[in-house]
Amino acid sequence: MRENETQLLVVGGGVGGVMAAVTAARRGIRVVLTEPTDWLGGVLTAQGVPPDEHVWIEQFGSTATYREYRNSVREYYRRNYPLTDDALRRPAFNPGGAKVSDLCHEPRVTLAVLESLVAPLRGSGLLQVLMEHEPLAAETDGDRVTAVTVRGSRTGETTVVSADWVIDASETGELLRLAGVEYVTGAEAEVDTGEPHAAAVADPMNMQPVSVCFALDHRPEEDHTIDRPAGYDQFRAARAVDWPDGQLSLTAPHPKTRLPVRHQFWPNPDDDLASIRPDYADQRVGSMDRNLWTFRRIAARANFRPEAYPSDLTLVNWPQMDYWGGPVFDHPDAEAHARAARELSRSFLYWLQTEAPRPDGGTGWPGLRLRGDVLGDTEDGLAKTPYIRESRRIRAEHTIVEQELSLAVRGDEGAVTYDDSVGVGMYRIDLHPSTGGDPYIDIGCCPFELPLGALLPVRVENLLPGAKNIGTTHITNGAYRMPLMEWNIGEVTGHLIAFCVQHKATPRQVREDEDLLADFTREIETAGIERHWPRVTGY
Ligand SMILES: Cc1cc2nc3c(=O)[nH]c(=O)nc-3n(C[C@H](O)[C@H](O)[C@H](O)COP(=O)(O)OP(=O)(O)OC[C@H]3O[C@@H](n4cnc5c(N)ncnc54)[C@H](O)[C@@H]3O)c2cc1C
Repeated sequence: MRENETQLLVVGGGVGGVMAAVTAARRGIRVVLTEPTDWLGGVLTAQGVPPDEHVWIEQFGSTATYREYRNSVREYYRRNYPLTDDALRRPAFNPGGAKVSDLCHEPRVTLAVLESLVAPLRGSGLLQVLMEHEPLAAETDGDRVTAVTVRGSRTGETTVVSADWVIDASETGELLRLAGVEYVTGAEAEVDTGEPHAAAVADPMNMQPVSVCFALDHRPEEDHTIDRPAGYDQFRAARAVDWPDGQLSLTAPHPKTRLPVRHQFWPNPDDDLASIRPDYADQRVGSMDRNLWTFRRIAARANFRPEAYPSDLTLVNWPQMDYWGGPVFDHPDAEAHARAARELSRSFLYWLQTEAPRPDGGTGWPGLRLRGDVLGDTEDGLAKTPYIRESRRIRAEHTIVEQELSLAVRGDEGAVTYDDSVGVGMYRIDLHPSTGGDPYIDIGCCPFELPLGALLPVRVENLLPGAKNIGTTHITNGAYRMPLMEWNIGEVTGHLIAFCVQHKATPRQVREDEDLLADFTREIETAGIERHWPRVTGY
């Protein structure tokens, strides 16, 4: 067993974890960052989800470093990819020309950009990164977490990392469980939150579904049909509420009305990229009606010089592969559910290849080729890890509830503003069919703020959440779970710990002491963190 001693341990190298580690290390804090996979970037890389954003993203509504990240992604394409002259000239270049966001791109590009952020800090010795390490156990002393044992999955070797400060930026809030930090999972009850859409009875096992994403291109002259998945018949036969033709079909419920919508699908449309704009207000519906292929397309061949991309690349994260069969953590069958989620994704691919209705009257697209290489060469060709929409969440000093941001509740007043705001975000509350049998729930939102109180656990003093494990509910997590917000959360926790070290204060004192809070918020504003929105209307 090895031993390691550091000022700050960040567990989980997703978007939030990387930003927490980078921010703290840039401020001179010695950091150890651990990541279970061999890719940094979590949702944007290992989970294969291009960034969903909001309608104002090209102008405001993100931290300065997130803006730099977006610029770096575009710059990386301009420098390294064979773009057409037109694509090279477009300031808001969207590599995939996709409907879901203005920056749908290959995960490896985000990986390269994140690596460029950590490289100088690794070189300086301030930041040590333990890739392919997962947390096994935590040691505590009263209300402090003192050490975390991590194990390298390649070597099997364990390391005890002692740290003054700990950030749990794991995708599922793993450290909350290991360190006995008070947390909640699943759906809260209406009596507890007062939320208009809360359940009558709390159900910790009622969580958002996970999705195991995959990338495709299309080679019409070839047959790339995968072996028939063992679970195919089961998924093919499953009939669920709101899915008249079953989940493996192009007829999916409309997230707002729950009425069936017949989507279309055909690979490599000759679309005019100039006419494709992200449809933020109605991200899934208006856009998907046209063609699922372009929904999360990550490479539009028309952006590249002739022959460079014989086919588009599309990223499949569509309603059909949401796995709501059961939770993938804190449940006796969690591992079986995690396997079944992968089986569902492969079953959907097999269905697309063999049975999907084609506009020409035929069935199936055998030329659809699974592009595991685009997502890091996993054995089954799917993303390295599932996209986890809902994590364990800390019991927080401030739990953000639906009525603080709901457009229907707040109307022209806008979302609640906070003196202790440490960031901004915007997304509709987008709840997918859940493991508890709830259907889509879609709630319009006002652009909202991130209160510092939602980052403070009720008891523990030296652990902060650095991802979507903050003080939201099952419902508000549906808006706060986006990469842009996770980035902001991670970055602020990095600043907060550096500030606490400098002022010999605890995060709770920073929130409670007017002068400390004023100093801290001034500091993060100077660092380019937006704390409030200009006057804009929600959607
Ligand atoms: C959008 C939606 C809304 C729902 N709303 C309600 C509701 O309001 N009230 C209510 O009581 N129930 C609801 N459900 C749950 C659902 O209707 C039933 O639980 C289910 O259809 C019961 O059938 P079954 O599991 O016996 O068999 P089948 O539906 O035939 O499924 C057989 C088995 O296949 C697996 N399976 C099938 N599809 C999936 C999938 N997508 N992900 C993971 N595993 C899968 C499961 O192990 C399942 O038990 C909803 C489901 C969905 C999808």
